Order: sequence, then structure tokens, then C-alpha cells
Amino acid sequence: MNSAYLGLGSNIYPRIIYIYHALHLIQKHIGEIEKMSTIYQTSPWKMPENTPFFYNLCVKVKTHLLPLQVLEHIFFIEKKLGRTKKTTSYEKYVSRTIDIDILLFNNEIIQEENLTVPHPFLHERHFVLLPLSEIAGHFEHPVLKKKIKDLLK
Ligand code: ADP
Ligand code: MG
Repeated sequence: MNSAYLGLGSNIYPRIIYIYHALHLIQKHIGEIEKMSTIYQTSPWKMPENTPFFYNLCVKVKTHLLPLQVLEHIFFIEKKLGRTKKTTSYEKYVSRTIDIDILLFNNEIIQEENLTVPHPFLHERHFVLLPLSEIAGHFEHPVLKKKIKDLLK
């Protein structure tokens, strides 16, 4: 059984409804949600000034799926929840009904064309580290070799 830590974000209203539906679909298609963080309201990161605020949270999911299979389900869930614009590079951000990222997958380090795990910006994003530290504070980042709670500092 694998442990996947997923980060969720939404900044299109009604945000809580998109998050609720995403959690339902994660539970149905990826695996049991074992832990869930607080939902934080966060200001948009590298986006235009009038962009609506995000809701962000993290979950720990127990899954039999492989990382790329989890990613396929994430794409399916994002599409089903009406996420239209795909960002073309990591530096371009657009409002989204739901964004789901694979933050950590067991202790694995994955470098595939479509998938980088641990998520490459995990350690720079307070809106990820804060909820993640609630459910994985003592988890050691497999590349940086530091606990998530220490990366938050
Ligand atoms: P972002 O999450 O950075 O706002 P997107 O959700 O549009 O951007 O994802 C862009 C691409 O990032 C996807 O096509 C996906 O293949 C890739 N990707 C690479 N690593 C990951 C990861 N750990 N979790 C989710 N997507 C990832
Ligand atoms: Mg994403």
C-alpha cells in the first residue's frame, strides 16, 4: 500500500464545493483519505492582483495505484470539475476550479516527463507547507532530507 500526499487548491467560487467534490472523487478513484489538514484561505501566488483568494489543503491518501496512475486520476478529476485552462509551464498560473498536485509519494523520488515528486516547489510554498506540516510534519523530504515541519520555518 502506498501513501500519497496530495495538495488541493481552488480559487473559483464556490471553492468549498469544488474541494468537497474533489475529495469525494479522490476517495472513490484513488484511495482512502486517511488524514486531512485544515483548509486555509491563502493569497494567490505569482498571479494578477485582483485574483480571488485560494482555499488550500492537503490530504494523505492510501492507494494501491502507481504514481502515474494517480496522476491520470488527478487529470480526470480536474477535468470533471471543470478545470479548463491547463498551465503550460510552471511559471504561468491561472484561476482554477480545482488543482490537485502530488506532493509526496512514499519516500520516492520521481523524475518523469509528466511527473516530478516530491513536487518541485513544495518547499517554497507556504500555502503547501503549512497544511502539509499538519499531516506530515515529521515526514522527511526525500531530496532535501529535512522534515516538513522544519521546511516551514
Ligand atoms: P500547477 O499545478 O503548477 O499550477 P498544472 O496543475 O496545470 O500546474 O500542472 C502542470 C503539469 O505539471 C501537469 O501536466 C503535470 O503533468 C505536471 N506535474 C509534474 N509534477 C507534478 C506533480 N507532482 N503533481 C501534479 N502535476 C505534476
Ligand atoms: Mg497542478
